[in-house]
Amino acid sequence: MENIQKIGVIGAGQMGNGIAHVFAGAGYAVLLNDIDKDRIDAALAIIAKNFARQVSKGDLSHEDAEAAIARIQPAAAISDLADCDLVVESASENFELKKKIFGELSGVLKAGAIMASNTSSMSITALAAATDRPDRFIGLHFMNPAPVMRLVEVIRGIATSKETFETTKALVEKLGKTMAVSEDFPAFIVNRVLMPMINEAIYTLYEGVGSVEAIDTGLKLGANHPLGPLALADFIGLDTCLAIMQVLYEGLADSKYRPCPLLVKYVEAGWLGRKTGRGFYDYSGETPVPTR
Ligand code: NAD
Repeated sequence: MENIQKIGVIGAGQMGNGIAHVFAGAGYAVLLNDIDKDRIDAALAIIAKNFARQVSKGDLSHEDAEAAIARIQPAAAISDLADCDLVVESASENFELKKKIFGELSGVLKAGAIMASNTSSMSITALAAATDRPDRFIGLHFMNPAPVMRLVEVIRGIATSKETFETTKALVEKLGKTMAVSEDFPAFIVNRVLMPMINEAIYTLYEGVGSVEAIDTGLKLGANHPLGPLALADFIGLDTCLAIMQVLYEGLADSKYRPCPLLVKYVEAGWLGRKTGRGFYDYSGETPVPTR
């Protein structure tokens, strides 16, 4: 296994802050980048709050939390990540955007370093082809929230080398996470199964079969899910849910994956779930209120 010490994270949204948290907690130096500087500042504040929660729960000492927080530094530009050993891209789920980021990173990242994408659905092979090192490119798909969820899906593109895979495997172990290996197919394993269920829950709402509350209570108490599918969609982000459904629909060319028109409408309205304060629930008050 190669020596990985310094990690770059591109995209400081809800996944990027969690991924930075996980790596810093495991002892790695982390550089956190975003196109929007405010997002980096917001992410650093969230990370500090989440470490404080771990301390108050007795999971971590105050000193260890402080040391982990100090290991994360903001990086204003992608060129600041040049000497990282691994860069994990976790920007918005948009293929052209990711391609552009990897193109830019290719021009600056030191030879031998590994590039990874936290994409929920997109072809690792196609993203790798946009870089200068398809053999050192891999899918590293964390679950939300990254510090809490135990799984990391690992996806090899067609050109990913055995060495890159072995290094990634050892890294996931060092993070204390469990790995599930998926072949490079649209949405991999977890979202191939999860997202059509969420999309179906939105159809159930769209067709008037049940209210938001009835659908979520139904699945929580009837299928023993910790979160109802509509609350989960809000938690993931409706833009991300729609992007994943589009990748499934186009990538597998099967009408059963067509995104529900109500999901499309919510995204058009900018109602993206928790991150914008409104989705299938309204998050402006103390407790989330169903919107339908
Ligand atoms: P998010 O909307 O919370 O964050 C996306 C971030 O990317 C934003 O801060 C945005 O400013 C930043 N960004 C946009 N363009 C950029 C650029 N050119 N350079 C640097 N940063 C840029 O989204 P998220 O939920 O954190 O999702 C990020 C990625 O993680 C997506 O690929 C998504 O599919 C994947 N993912 C999401 C979940 C989930 O449950 N939300 C789970 C696993 C993986």
